[in-house]
Amino acid sequence: MPVPKRKSARTVGRNRRAHWKAKVMKYTYCPNCGEPVLPHTVCPRCGYYRGIKIYITKFEKETEELLNE
Ligand SMILES: [Zn+2]
Repeated sequence: MPVPKRKSARTVGRNRRAHWKAKVMKYTYCPNCGEPVLPHTVCPRCGYYRGIKIYITKFEKETEELLNE
């Protein structure tokens, strides 16, 4: 139920906010390149997810262009 801001005491709000905590970010390592990546996410460095190539990274594109020149 909404309560007007000035009706609740300062301590009430402060005590409630005492339980707000920053969570430690969870991550795993890419099995292809070993880079730390977020779980259930395509690796931004090599573009692999569960051993399958998902996309060509910017770095790979640039090197390919340089080789073609
Ligand atoms: Zn990777």
